[in-house]
Amino acid sequence: MGTRVTVELWSEDDQHAAQCSEQVFTEMHRIDHLMSPYIADSEVSLINRQAAEKPVVISAELYRLLQRAQWFSGLTKGAFDVTFASIGYQYDYRQARQPDDLTIQRELDRIDYQKMTLRDNSVAFSLAGMRIDLGGIAKGYAVDRSIDILKHCGITEALVSAGGDSRIIGDRQGKPWIIGIQHPRKKQAVALRIPLSNTAISTSGDYERYFISNGERVHHIIDPNTGKSSHAAWSATIIGPDATSTDALSTSVFILGTQKGLQLIESLPAFDAIIIDTRGVVHYSSGLQEPATVH
Ligand code: ADP
Ligand code: MG
Repeated sequence: MGTRVTVELWSEDDQHAAQCSEQVFTEMHRIDHLMSPYIADSEVSLINRQAAEKPVVISAELYRLLQRAQWFSGLTKGAFDVTFASIGYQYDYRQARQPDDLTIQRELDRIDYQKMTLRDNSVAFSLAGMRIDLGGIAKGYAVDRSIDILKHCGITEALVSAGGDSRIIGDRQGKPWIIGIQHPRKKQAVALRIPLSNTAISTSGDYERYFISNGERVHHIIDPNTGKSSHAAWSATIIGPDATSTDALSTSVFILGTQKGLQLIESLPAFDAIIIDTRGVVHYSSGLQEPATVH
């Protein structure tokens, strides 16, 4: 997944703990092999090669995740859209490469989740040249799967992280975990610390993978309306019950920006948001704000 995965857990039995975390890493590799667009024989690569020609039958697991992705597209009115990759694949952040404006204009209609049809365990694109990439949801999904494995293993206190996506079961020996939110403009610095237990948290930011071109930050979160990096926020953090949802929502709220992003999160009672806007101002959803009075 091109990201750092960590598992921390409490167990009385060293050997059992090692076996459980081994299962988690095996699962992470399995999901990567299923969903990476960079692995030629992954299911996602198969879809990208064939789904414009004919419906491609896929595993029930990937089908369900694509259904969830489509659900988030509907919820966010297309801010979250796995077909962003139709243009997104032309960005190379390491080589500082990006598509030119003419190419983006010509190909922008390929970014449209409504042109991806899921039916009878198959997926089909309605335009040639369409592609998908699950980079905005797959890590959260992998974290959720890992937590399920640890629960089956009998573990009751653990933290699993994959890049910007984490989930906690239980707490840290009776105390909450203190989770740091990366400072979006200072390397290796924490902007905020929040105490959390039994929850998932994801952050999307414009500082993870980017390069500067003509003074503009070109980064990996693409606004489906423009085919270019979104500049609506510096980072968006979502807290909620599962990491698949917080992952998809952090990418979405990053694109939607402060006002629309907070409006969306306020409509979802199980979720909260912390948005750092493009001036560095921190915005909290109402579930995280301190009450003005106490009774
Ligand atoms: P990361 O933890 O890698 O920073 P994010 O949750 O911030 O991940 O999501 C960024 C990733 O989401 C990108 O690398 C890309 O794969 C994918 N992505 C970019 N734009 C969109 C979009 N509009 N909708 C869905 N996924 C996107
Ligand atoms: Mg995300």
